[in-house]
Amino acid sequence: MIRSLRDRALTVPRRNRFGDIVWRVPTAGMLAGILKNPAYAGAFVYGRTQSCHARYASGKIISRRRPMAEWKIVVKDRYPAYLDWERYERIQIMLSDNHAEYKRNQTRGAPRDGAAVLQGIVWCGRCGHKMGVEYKNGNRYVCNFLARSQGGALCQHLPADPIDACVVEAFFAAVNPAELAELMLAKDARQQADEAFDRAEEQQIKRLRYQALLAERQYDRVDPDNRLIAAELERRWEGALRELRQAEDAFERRRAMQNQSDDLTPAEQNDFIAAGSQLPEFWQRSDIEWGRK
Ligand SMILES: [Zn+2]
Repeated sequence: MIRSLRDRALTVPRRNRFGDIVWRVPTAGMLAGILKNPAYAGAFVYGRTQSCHARYASGKIISRRRPMAEWKIVVKDRYPAYLDWERYERIQIMLSDNHAEYKRNQTRGAPRDGAAVLQGIVWCGRCGHKMGVEYKNGNRYVCNFLARSQGGALCQHLPADPIDACVVEAFFAAVNPAELAELMLAKDARQQADEAFDRAEEQQIKRLRYQALLAERQYDRVDPDNRLIAAELERRWEGALRELRQAEDAFERRRAMQNQSDDLTPAEQNDFIAAGSQLPEFWQRSDIEWGRK
């Protein structure tokens, strides 16, 4: 996402310390802020953060974000919405999942060799806790959550290899006929995203054009005797024109590139299907590096 924005030199609106809107090169933090901001889903929310009584030595108050369920006031349909509330909630879940994933990767330790393909995604059927992987006497999935937290006995452990084999088989069976359709869907989604970026780029060009016009008018109105101000306004006008031209050129170049079609030919589609049916065979071969963890 951030790469797409930067590739297209798209900027995002921010408020500066005077409360004016300025357009800035996006950072990951800014995008996360936009994704988490309920105003984009049209809602007015009060009480998203909670200040603790403690303060930093600098005098700054420590605040933490409350989970959505603890927000004090939520008034939906307050602003024009860019996305509906359900979609907003889904995005919040995705963000917190990504964060959990990140934290788990931080704490899971160095990945070890061995298949155990379900590492981190297998839950115990008996007690419902997440199972870990142990590498003694071959790989095995272990449910030791209760044992660790309450000091009881191990809930259960199962050898990993036969389970992995079943899951891999089921995975290939499910994925095989669906692959091409999925690829097409992914292409459609990609195209829709590209179109959205195109619209954003067009809007940005409009904005730059308006700014250049404004700068031109300001320059026209200045008293020519007032040389210092005239020179400064001329400099601003030229700068605005330069920015506009760069944005227009970049947009045209991208348009030209996009028009080169990248649709799969029927022959390529057949190749793709054939490759898909060989995947299980490749999977069994040990001489290929799969990047397994
Ligand atoms: Zn268990």
